[in-house]
Amino acid sequence: MDLGLRDRVAAVAAASKGLGRGSANALAREGCRVVIGARGAEALADAVDELAAITGDPARVHGVSVDVVAEPEALVEAAVERFGTVEVLVPNAGGPPPAGALDVSADDLRAAFEANCVASIRMAHAAIPRMRDAEWGRICFITSSFVKQPAPFLALSNTARTGLVAFAKTLATDVAPFGITVNVILPGTHDTDRIRGMGSLDDLAASIPVGRVGSPADFGDAVAFLCSEQANFITGTTLLIDGGRYPGLL
Ligand code: NAP
Repeated sequence: MDLGLRDRVAAVAAASKGLGRGSANALAREGCRVVIGARGAEALADAVDELAAITGDPARVHGVSVDVVAEPEALVEAAVERFGTVEVLVPNAGGPPPAGALDVSADDLRAAFEANCVASIRMAHAAIPRMRDAEWGRICFITSSFVKQPAPFLALSNTARTGLVAFAKTLATDVAPFGITVNVILPGTHDTDRIRGMGSLDDLAASIPVGRVGSPADFGDAVAFLCSEQANFITGTTLLIDGGRYPGLL
């Protein structure tokens, strides 16, 4: 299926590895011009090379060395500078450290909110004027399945990301008249450096009904669909990509 994304300009944050990279690759496969941001130069260069191979044209790809928590607007500015606009935005950042609810300090909470809530909101605020002028836009926030079922050892993640989901729902209503959709995508367990640091993939797969952890590509394909032309009536929603692990109904 052609997702109607050819030549759209997509900006994907925290995308030299993992889920951001899987999302950028999927958007590139759909014909987007893609801008990615991350801090580490080596992985960023590697991700840009992969995107160039996917698109077949290095001129359609741009990598920006940026800390998206410290300077969230910089990614959007880079897309505008390189390609003249931003039409698809995938806000993302690294996850906070594990912590029980009784262990978190006010500073820990502030840092988690900056990284996993406020930075994503700032990216959206930077992109929306361009999308509004074009009367077309797609925003797909990356959060976590734990906003549906908070994990006991991830108080910082659970708290900050749930705030972002509430913001996204509000934003979706506010920008719907301008042809902009806003959705939140909730990864379960995918094979990324972050997850590999948490234990054996086989052990993690044991609790997933499909019998394996997800790949970054499984995740990216869902992002590309939510950003597609066909998804124009899908907004203000959350989508779990977790191989069926979440046990609830809603
Ligand atoms: P990952 O494999 O560790 O990749 C993180 C990517 O983000 C890297 O490219 C990293 O590059 C970049 N990054 C981190 N902090 C950044 C910053 N301040 N500025 C710019 N780039 C930054 O992580 P992941 O597994 O893809 O996870 C992505 C997000 O989804 C995280 O918030 C994670 O908690 C959440 N999540 C993931 C899963 C999963 O199954 N993988 C499940 C639930 C939630 P640099 O370090 O070089 O900047």
